[in-house]
Parts: sequence; C-alpha cells; structure tokens
Amino acid sequence: MSHTPTIAVVGSGPIGSAYARLLVEGVPDARVVMFEAGPQLTAVPGESVRNIADPAEKERARERSQGPQAGDFRESLGIPAGVVVEGMFTARQGTHLIDFGGPGSGHAPTFPAAAAATNVGGQGAHWTCATPAPAFSERIGFIADAEWDELIAVAGDLLHVQSAAFADSAVGGGIRSLLEEEFAGELPEGYGPGTLPVAGDPQPDGSMRWAGADVVLGPLIDPSSPLSERFELRDLSLVRRLELEGDRVTGITVEDLRTRETYAFSADAVVVAADAFRTPQLLWASGIRPEALGHYLTEHPVVISTVAVDADKIGRFATEADLDAEIARRAHNPADPVAAVNRIPFSEPDHPFALQVMYAENPPFQLDPSHPQAGNKWGYVNMGYGMRKRPRFEDVVTFDDDELDYRGFPNMTIEYALTDAETAEIEAATERLRRAGGAIGEFVAEPRLLPNGSSLHYMGTYRVGQADDGTSVADPWSRVWGVEGLVVGGNGTIPTANAMNPTLMSVAIAVRGARRLAEELSGALVAEAGR
Ligand code: FAD
Repeated sequence: MSHTPTIAVVGSGPIGSAYARLLVEGVPDARVVMFEAGPQLTAVPGESVRNIADPAEKERARERSQGPQAGDFRESLGIPAGVVVEGMFTARQGTHLIDFGGPGSGHAPTFPAAAAATNVGGQGAHWTCATPAPAFSERIGFIADAEWDELIAVAGDLLHVQSAAFADSAVGGGIRSLLEEEFAGELPEGYGPGTLPVAGDPQPDGSMRWAGADVVLGPLIDPSSPLSERFELRDLSLVRRLELEGDRVTGITVEDLRTRETYAFSADAVVVAADAFRTPQLLWASGIRPEALGHYLTEHPVVISTVAVDADKIGRFATEADLDAEIARRAHNPADPVAAVNRIPFSEPDHPFALQVMYAENPPFQLDPSHPQAGNKWGYVNMGYGMRKRPRFEDVVTFDDDELDYRGFPNMTIEYALTDAETAEIEAATERLRRAGGAIGEFVAEPRLLPNGSSLHYMGTYRVGQADDGTSVADPWSRVWGVEGLVVGGNGTIPTANAMNPTLMSVAIAVRGARRLAEELSGALVAEAGR
C-alpha cells in the first residue's frame, strides 16, 4: 500500500474530536491532524475548565478562550491588542461575542448575544454538559429510529453521558415530586419530570469530573495508546482556506499564530467543525458557497427565572438532613458546585419546550439582604425553558468579501427574527414556568426572555438534507454537496427545530458522517492495495 490517508480536522471541540476519534479508530493507518485556532488551556487537551479547582487558574483559562476579547491574554492568540474594543454586551465567561463592538467586529444587532469560544476543546471546554437526546420532531426524519437510537447511544458513550446523574439527591427528588404533582396527567408517559442527563464521570466523593473534548478524544491523547501515534493536535493554528482542485478538496492553508507563518497541508479529506458561524465563514472564504450556506439559523429562545425553594413545600419530600447532605456534596467541589439537576423534556404535541431546573444554595445574582427570601435556608432553583425556532431561509449569517473581520475573514452579519409561531410558544412556556416556579417556591427573579443568541446553541447554518435542492449544505452523511472529500460537523448540521441542548445530537450526526467517511477512505485503501 503506497498511500496512508491523511485527514485534516478543523476545530477541536467535541464534534471535531468525535471525527478524529472515529477516523483514527476506523481507518487502518490513517493519520488525523487537528487544527485549532485557539490555545490549549489544560494539561489534558480539551478538558473542561470547570474541572480546574484553582479559581485564578480557571479565570485565566476562560480569558484565554475569549478570542478578540481575550484581555491580557489576547496576545496568546496572536491578535494585536489595538483591534479590541469591548462591546456593550457581555459574553458568558470563556466565550467571545461575534458582535463585540470594536474594529473588525461582526454585526448582529438582531442576535446580539451570539458568541463563540476559541481554545482547544472549543465551547466544549466551557459547556454546562447537559446532554438530553432529541425526541419527536426534533429528530431527523430521514434517519430511521433504530439507527438514530444507536447513533445517540454511541454519541453518549463518546461524551460519557450519565442518564441518572445526581438521581440519589433527595433535594433533587423533592423538586421532581413537586413538579410531578403540578403537571400530573399533562405529560406523556416517559416525558415527565426527571433527572437531566449530563456528560461527565461521577467521582467517589459524589462530585463530577465534567466531560470535554478530552473524553471524546480518549485514546488519541493517551500516550500509552498506539492510536495516539496517528493523531496530532496543533493549537494556535488558524485554518485560513480550504484548498480545492476542481470539485475535490485537497487540503488546507494554515496560519501558525505563534510564528505568523502560513503553510499548506495536503489531506485526502477535510472535516470542518469550526462552529455554526465560523464553519460557513471558512467555506465562504474558500469559495464554497452553496445556496443554503449560513441560512436556516436557529437557536432556542430561552426564558429564565430564579425561585427560592419553599421549606413547607419541599419539606413534604425531603428532610433537613437531606438538605445538609446536599450542601455537603456541593462543598466537595466549591469551584463548581453543581448537583440536583432536573428537567421536563420536550414532548409533542402539548409540551414542545424543554425545562431545565438547577438547584443552588445561592441565587446567581446579588439578592438584596433585606429581600424576604435572602439567605433562604432551602436555597434556590435556577429554572429556564428552551423553546424551538422554526428554520427559515431569512434567518441567516452572511459574509462580506469587501469588509474583513478582525481575523481577516469576510465579515459576518446575522439577521434573525422571531415569528408569531415562536412568540406563541414563548408565551405558553412562560406560563408553564410560572406554574413550575409556584409549585417549588417563590420567584426572586421573574421569568424573562433572554436576548437572541443567549442559548449558545446555534444550529442549521450548514444543515444536512436529503437532496441538493438549495435547502441544505450537506448530504445525509454531512458531506458538502458537490465537493468531494469535504465533511462538515457541529450544530450547524442540525436541520430540525428543537428545544434541547444540541451537542449530543451533533455528535450523533458526526458518528454517522465519520462512519461513512471511514468506509470511503478504507474502501479507497482496499482498491489501491488491489491495484
Ligand atoms: P466548538 O466547541 O465551538 O469548537 C469549534 C472550534 O473550532 C473552536 O475551538 C474554534 O476556535 C475552532 N475554529 C474556528 N474556526 C477555526 C479555524 N478557521 N481554524 C482553526 N480552528 C477554528 N451544549 C449542550 O449540548 N449542553 C450544554 O449544557 C451546553 N452548555 C453550554 C454552556 C456554555 C457556557 C457554552 C459556551 C456552550 C454550551 N453548549 C452546550 C454548547 C456546546 O458547547 C456546543 O454545542 C459544542 O461545543 C459544539 O461543538 P463543536 O465541536 O461543534 O464546536
């Protein structure tokens, strides 16, 4: 055999990592090189920064992920200090806004909270790790149920999903019981209040080691595994262009952000998993411009609130000793005290929204000490509903060849609007949230709709579809229509309107794509060997 396949993966988040893992495992002798624009934050590549115990170290890791807003650590990304002006809107820690308000900033007045992370592990180094599976119309219609269930199971294994995390928490159980009473008889069997599946590994002390791209990469970053010899991760390596010969991708052009040198890298296949905005931007910048590219942008509108847990209500299901046990468990990881995470999942036709309920001893904001619920003994729940957004061609990120962004790419403009369909469901979900909150205690922060883009779950911008009819960018195996050897991965592939956190679904779609690509590359090897 004369030729060992080389695969370039652009982006080191959970989806790029899933491709890397499955291709190294699935294609004999294949070499996978992963290119990541951001820096490596942790000794173990792609680990969740939530696992960093030292608060100062954690803050530094988050700052270094913030691309154009990386503060003192901006230089680590090779971005000149002068280009950055902080915007009016503040991104979540570890992320940077697309529309950050300075020179080279994108334009997103109708989607102001749009944000990205630029670091090894991508947003997956900062995520909350909620991993519900899509249900009902959230699933992709052209993938049969049996196959879909298997893909979700494999994706769950890759992400170390725990379906019954914190199920033993009596406080969590009490909250579920209160929600069950409130919504009794209204929800289909199997879709009532339950624990929220999360990605992580439970530790003997009851805390969680949160999963990031590290667990997805698995043996690829374990030096004792022979698979690691066929994998390489290059951080601070910005992929500037996908190179084509005719309708086949032949490699990429990369800028080493340490040296500022640009080099060519040849590949038999390229997987682009560079998030829902930067993936279409890279395709556009490379002259790959299918009609649907950047269109059909969706996310989840989000309504959130905080409720003080009522002692009498929860006291029917949990004791003060249970509360002490809950607080003791949270104290095991004071830097990230998450436990008792519940939900009511999406179901149709009557509950097309997803509720997430997180228990905490303190509200996420300073509560006036004179507030009657300040210092509430039984703590608080942060509750939020995610709703769906119907995919529409006119919700779009476009790219301007004449105006470059801070990285020198065609700049982005996002246009997005909620329609009557969304407004009606937001109202219905807000009403549910009021009922759920009232069942548990008293609101200390009333339900409110967050600005567009706040979900951090951006979907649809390079959606998969069954036909090359202008409504999709990639085929059912995530191969870009009309470009051989080019595969896209990430939330942008999701074509459906859904209300749940999308990463598990995107990994499932990636499993399907990676298997097909592995077959193709292995088939080419067999053919070559036979010649
Ligand atoms: P990303 O993780 O975004 O990774 C893309 C990577 O590509 C980035 O590191 C970027 O630097 C790199 N890149 C971009 N352009 C280039 C280029 N030209 N060259 C080289 N590299 C490039 N999802 C859930 O399902 N559940 C949750 O509970 C949840 N909570 C979240 C909480 C927070 C605070 C955040 C920020 C996100 C959350 N998400 C959650 C979203 C989740 O993190 C993403 O769905 C997931 O990370 C997407 O994976 P990805 O690999 O497609 O992209």
